Amino acid sequence: MCATDLTVEAPAKINLFLEVLSMRSDGYHEIRSLIVPVSLCDTLYIEKADDEVVTETTVVDPAVVSGVSQIPRSEDNLVTRAAVLLRNVTGYGGGARIRIEKRIPVQGGMGGGSADAAAALKALNELWQTGLDDVELLKIGGQVGSDVPALLAGRAVIVTGCGKTIEHIFLPRAERPRDWWVVLANPGFGVSTADVYSRYRTILTSPDGILKNMVFALADGDIELATQSLFNSLERTVLAKYPLLQMIAEELRRAGAIGVMLCGSGASMFGLARDELHAHDIAARMGGTADFDVRSWVARILPDGVMVAHGPLEA
Ligand code: ATP
Repeated sequence: MCATDLTVEAPAKINLFLEVLSMRSDGYHEIRSLIVPVSLCDTLYIEKADDEVVTETTVVDPAVVSGVSQIPRSEDNLVTRAAVLLRNVTGYGGGARIRIEKRIPVQGGMGGGSADAAAALKALNELWQTGLDDVELLKIGGQVGSDVPALLAGRAVIVTGCGKTIEHIFLPRAERPRDWWVVLANPGFGVSTADVYSRYRTILTSPDGILKNMVFALADGDIELATQSLFNSLERTVLAKYPLLQMIAEELRRAGAIGVMLCGSGASMFGLARDELHAHDIAARMGGTADFDVRSWVARILPDGVMVAHGPLEA
C-alpha cells in the first residue's frame, strides 16, 4: 500500500454495566448497557481508490493478539461492509484500500470488529466527502453490527434495545475528574457472542439503582463507587463454560485489581485499578504465579471520547 490519506484509531470498549433484559420474538435479546471506549486501539490506514473497497488486516504481534485467522479477508470484514453501505447510501462512485493494524483481541468482548467499522465509517465520510450527519451514520452503523452505534459515539454511552438506541451520558463536572485505568486480560482464545446468548437461560437482572450509581461514579471519577456498581448478566454463563476465565478473574484480584468483570460476552476480563501506576503494577503481577496463559494490557478509560484523525485530508 502506498501513501496513506488518513490514519484513524479505533478504540476497543468495555461494558461497565451489561444487563440482558429479555429475548425478543426475532431471537435477539433486549439489553441495557453502559459502554466506554478504552485506549487499546486498532489503527486503520485508509487510502482512496478508484473503484473497489478492499480491506486487509495485519498484526504487529501475533503472539499477543489472538484469533486473527478468524477475521474475514475482505468483503465480509465489517469494515468493508460499512464502507460499501456508506457508498450505496450516498451514491459515492469511488472506493478505498484499508489496512487494519490489529491490536484488539478477536472475539474478546471488546468490540474490535465494531470499533474498526465505526472508525472506517467516520473516516470515509470525511475522506469521500459524503457529508452524512451523526444520525445518518448511526443508522448505517446499526445495519453493520450491534456495537457499531455505541462505538460511533466514541464516548461513554448507554445503549438499549438490541444496541441501536444510544443515549449520550452527560458528564457534568466542575473540573475533569481523575482518569480511570484498567488492566485488560485475555486468555488467548475467543468466545462466540452468539453461543453465549444461546446458552444464557436465566434472566439475571441488576440490583436496583446500580446503573445510576455507575453513571454517578463515572461523572465524579469515583472509582470506589464504580467497583461496587459493576454488573454483567452474561458473566456467570461464560465463566461456567470457561473455567480459565474464572482463574483469570482470580488472578486479576490477586494482582490487586479493585473490581473485576467480564468484557461484554468475553473472552476478556477487565480489572479496575486505582490509578495508572496501580494498573501497571497489576499488569506486572499478572501471570507471575499462574500456570496458564494470559495476555494483559494496561488501558485508560476514555469517557469523553477519542477518535483521532491524522491528515492529510484532501480539500
Ligand atoms: P462482539 O461482542 O461485538 O460480538 P467481540 O469483541 O467479541 O464482538 P470481535 O473481535 O468484534 O469480537 O469479532 C467478532 C467477529 O467479527 C469475529 O469472529 C470476526 O469473524 C468478525 N469480524 C469481521 N470484521 C472484523 C474485524 N475488522 N475485526 C475483528 N473481527 C471481525
